[in-house]
Amino acid sequence: MKNILILKNESLNKYNSWRVGGAADTLFVPKNLEDLKNFLKKEQYLKPLTFIGLGSNILVRDGGIRGTVIVMYAALNEIHITDDSVYVEAGISCAKIAKNLAKEHFVGGEFFAGIPGTIGGALAMNSGCYGSETWNYVTKVNMIDEEGNIALRLKNEFSISYREVVKPKFNEWFVGAWFNFKRDILADSESKIKEYLNHRKRTQPLNWPTAGSTFRNPKDTFAAQLIEECGLKGFRVGNAEVSDKHANFIINLGDATAKDIESIIDHIESEVFRKKGIKLEREVKILGDFLS
Ligand SMILES: Cc1cc2nc3c(=O)[nH]c(=O)nc-3n(C[C@H](O)[C@H](O)[C@H](O)COP(=O)(O)OP(=O)(O)OC[C@H]3O[C@@H](n4cnc5c(N)ncnc54)[C@H](O)[C@@H]3O)c2cc1C
Repeated sequence: MKNILILKNESLNKYNSWRVGGAADTLFVPKNLEDLKNFLKKEQYLKPLTFIGLGSNILVRDGGIRGTVIVMYAALNEIHITDDSVYVEAGISCAKIAKNLAKEHFVGGEFFAGIPGTIGGALAMNSGCYGSETWNYVTKVNMIDEEGNIALRLKNEFSISYREVVKPKFNEWFVGAWFNFKRDILADSESKIKEYLNHRKRTQPLNWPTAGSTFRNPKDTFAAQLIEECGLKGFRVGNAEVSDKHANFIINLGDATAKDIESIIDHIESEVFRKKGIKLEREVKILGDFLS
């Protein structure tokens, strides 16, 4: 196989938005879907497989990830728009999709604008904000398995809830999705996008490495409010800190380790449970091994 990027013992630090974590045994960045299929069909790659997009919702531990990490961002990059449907490959950023949809006068996709991940990550997480969620608009998806086979799956084959998606088969990953956004020539999606982005700037610590909301909001309340009420804003371990601007965000002040961040996560959980009797659930996915 030629021109394929396969790296050994590659630090994952630059592949996630917290800028922490150890190395992947093997890291593969496909060029496109064909490359990805060929790799899975023909290479004797190390298992298990871990798919990541922009790494904006993961905490990679300092000991790194065993097996093969596949980076989808900027790899599977095609968008196909017809009159009544939009097909998007999994490596495209949510921001790019929001812009493209707005340009083509589709409404509903504005919420994607400020989510700093890929469509694959958004499908895996059912990402959302401002009253919308990814799977509200999905009709079907293309999945790939460990042998490089593609399967078309309908929405009703998945169990979907708030920030959680259970796939029909564990060892399948998203390569693209069809969305049923509707066209409205009169809608002003661009203004809505600007408004959403300004709101984020005002309320989120966007100048720091972070993975956004660390915990899901419990029923009828907000994780950030609970964390703030427990007096944890500014709580620090090593070079990681609970943001003063948004208490559900943990920021890397520079050279934090994954262990610093995970210690804060553990501390928040135990304090919120001790003081409020509420068990917070993690939204960020913790991957890999502790440093031995
Ligand atoms: C500043 C900031 C603001 C944020 N705001 C929001 C918000 O408003 N709403 C929201 O929901 N989230 C938000 N997030 C979290 C994050 O951006 C979203 O969850 C995003 O959709 C994750 O996409 P990603 O490509 O970065 O996924 P990654 O972080 O790379 O991966 C997340 C999970 O998805 C899996 N995954 C990734 N790609 C695939 C694939 N192709 N197939 C199968 N599984 C895959 C990974 O294995 C992992 O388990 C925010 C994060 C930051 C840093």
